[in-house]
Amino acid sequence: MLQLKLLQPQPDGWQQILADAVRDPYELLEMLNLSRHMIDLSETAAAQFPLRVPRGYVARMRKGDENDPLLRQVLPIGAEMQEVQGFTTDPVGDHDAIIKQGLLQKYHGRVLIMTTAACAIHCRYCFRRHFPYHEQAARPSLWQPLLNEIAQDANISEVILSGGDPLSLGDSALLQLMTALEQIPHLKRLRIHSRYPIVLPERINEPLLEWFKQTRLTSVMVIHSNHANEIDASVKTALHKLKSTGMTLLNQAVLLHGVNDDGDTLCHLSEALFETGVMPYYLHKLDKVEGAAHFDADEDLAKQLVTEMRKRLPGYLVPKLVQEVAGTPYKQPL
Ligand SMILES: *Cc1c(COP(=O)(O)O)cnc(C)c1O
Ligand code: SF4
Repeated sequence: MLQLKLLQPQPDGWQQILADAVRDPYELLEMLNLSRHMIDLSETAAAQFPLRVPRGYVARMRKGDENDPLLRQVLPIGAEMQEVQGFTTDPVGDHDAIIKQGLLQKYHGRVLIMTTAACAIHCRYCFRRHFPYHEQAARPSLWQPLLNEIAQDANISEVILSGGDPLSLGDSALLQLMTALEQIPHLKRLRIHSRYPIVLPERINEPLLEWFKQTRLTSVMVIHSNHANEIDASVKTALHKLKSTGMTLLNQAVLLHGVNDDGDTLCHLSEALFETGVMPYYLHKLDKVEGAAHFDADEDLAKQLVTEMRKRLPGYLVPKLVQEVAGTPYKQPL
């Protein structure tokens, strides 16, 4: 019996934590001592885009506070079901940027691989919440044509692994893909867009760290944090480990009404990031995706907030306020 058990492939520790994520909105409310009568929870919204949140992230939410900025990012509520003009299912034109299944190019010199549909957390404001990943993500069986495409175009110097979240891939698939990319001579940089260091920091394990230490590619990880409360001791440890491989760490945040649309919150976020070796990169104006209108902060407020940050912080801690406009050759500064 014992021997048989040892022969079963064991999921990695982080995969168990992911499998154990909270998926039931009522359980989440109970964990936070919130009464379901206080909240406009929506089962319809949850059916469209299910709740998913790792327990370690829930532990950083304030108990008894229905307006907690971390809770607001993940809880399915009735406001999502309101149709609002101008909010669509593909606000950033991802469909038109597909050059091969799983491969997007919008900008000069860099391509983006949608490696997987899976994420460790489901963010209610996500611009990809309606994207037909299951048709469009590049499954490992589809990687070879993508690699060929990149190998044939010497103008491409940077590959971005995105998703979903590329760190949802298991170590062997991910390392295999990155190693194949490393062998394309004209590639200089590898960039990973991931929320794992923030929402499931246990994902930053030895095989990943070892790979980044030895690669010839200049590596960048763009993490995604919207609020300083997201950065606890476990997150700091993971970020320090990543930093010690020599990679560059950047953050992109989304400006979200009721989460981080005030000057204090944004300044604290920049400072907390820098303390852990991460430079603020982009502050995105919300993409107008159906179901997320209640997170929208207007453009004047967005500009005012950045002005306030400029007055209070060193220039290097002020992120660039940008908006993605479908069909334009770079993210548009506001
Ligand atoms: C956002 C994005 C990038 C990255 O843009 P940078 O300005 O280089 O950070 C690249 N490709 C696609 C398709 C994107 O959406
Ligand atoms: S982790 Fe990123 S891609 Fe995944 S749901 Fe959140 S915002 Fe969207």
